[in-house]
Amino acid sequence: MKALFISDLHLTPECPAVARAFCHYLADRAPQADALYILGDFFEYWVGDDAMDDFQHDIAQRLRQYTNSGKALYLMPGNRDFAIGKSFLQATGAQWLKDPTLITINNQKILLMHGDSLCTADKQYQRYRKIIRNPLVMALLRMTPLSYRKNLGRKIRQKSKAAKIGKALDIMDVTRSEVVEAMERFGVDTLIHGHTHRPDIHEVALKHGVGKRYVLGDWTDKGWEIELDSNGITLDAFPIKHP
Ligand code: MN
Repeated sequence: MKALFISDLHLTPECPAVARAFCHYLADRAPQADALYILGDFFEYWVGDDAMDDFQHDIAQRLRQYTNSGKALYLMPGNRDFAIGKSFLQATGAQWLKDPTLITINNQKILLMHGDSLCTADKQYQRYRKIIRNPLVMALLRMTPLSYRKNLGRKIRQKSKAAKIGKALDIMDVTRSEVVEAMERFGVDTLIHGHTHRPDIHEVALKHGVGKRYVLGDWTDKGWEIELDSNGITLDAFPIKHP
């Protein structure tokens, strides 16, 4: 069994080079695996399934071609695209993964997360996350007019950008004790996540031994993937050509 993991593509029509790189990846690279896991922030933003534009429809169609070919596709919500709903999943054939999710591949237990829930030093963000991700709040938001949600989304993105500039770099990263807690709670020695845009492999001292935390990178000048097969786990990057 071979699986591929990617995250933080932040797909948007404003960045055609990254979209092209993903289409290429989906047609050429992903078919070499049995399953593709997308661990959040696949889209730059998601206002609602009822607000899909031509760009998002085109991506959905390509994902459908992938699942139609017999491959498994898994999607985990990120902080940008957590509002992806049932219609998108039905259109693409993707399976929704809650954050966190424990999987077992080739007899290896692996914990998957987007990564934002690990950044607990950012109290302001964690408060906002708790409210906006509440199922009741999400259900109510889905009932509001599209124009309202578009406006709200724009405001949140602006705020998030402004907040990132003002915040110290260390609170944008994961809290180490939070990583240990999550890995021990699930009894795993492997964690894969994205979100921080700091691709790397870290050793984690756990009660039951030394674990590894694999961090995916965002797709900008490079694309990042994690490959898992019977040989183990590797983190790789490849160039993205911008015109
Ligand atoms: Mn994120």
